Amino acid sequence: MKTKKILQLLIGTNNKGKLREIKALLPKKIKILSTSDFKLKSPIENGKTFEQNSLIKAKYFSKKSNHICLSDDSGLEIKSLNNQPGIYSARWAGQKNNFDLAIKKVFRMLNKKIPNWKKINVEAKFTCALTIYWPNGKFVTKTGIVRGRISKIKIGTKGFGYDPIFIPLGSKMTFGQISHKRKYKTDHRYKAFQKIKKFL
Ligand code: IMP
Repeated sequence: MKTKKILQLLIGTNNKGKLREIKALLPKKIKILSTSDFKLKSPIENGKTFEQNSLIKAKYFSKKSNHICLSDDSGLEIKSLNNQPGIYSARWAGQKNNFDLAIKKVFRMLNKKIPNWKKINVEAKFTCALTIYWPNGKFVTKTGIVRGRISKIKIGTKGFGYDPIFIPLGSKMTFGQISHKRKYKTDHRYKAFQKIKKFL
């Protein structure tokens, strides 16, 4: 697909953590617009996959603003919890975006399902689907994954969401303990971005 170079790009998210991460990935020559510039609320995410939900968001924000839009949908999947919370990762935090609550729910469910989970390796992964949507209806979606495990305790104050309980493969620290700069260069969003950046 041949595309013109993008000079202005709307980042289709109302999540400040994601906005910060996506901004850090983008080339400085692109002017970044945010949903608050257009006072846009988020659409209903009724897709069944990360890919479908990222397309729903990118299409919605692009149509509302008439700008090219980059949106992500991402989340944490815990293997022994049948890949929950998955696409419901944000919803586990409730309307107030309370990730203390969401993390407590993860620990509660693990305690219930695998009473000795702290003695085993609880495999998990973060997935991110990124979609660029053009006002003429053209779009492209790419996915990135980072594998790891669930920490036995919530630790670290950097990052956002489930970062304090996710330890990426090869590390002893959670994403919540790792500097932003290092996380941006290894995470699921970065990996998806590597695949999609040629369209920018
Ligand atoms: P959504 O893509 O807006 O549905 O939200 C995905 C949710 O997954 C976020 O609100 C976070 O809780 C979680 N999530 C996605 N990416 C990350 C990450 O890099 N670190 C921590 N949590 C994340």
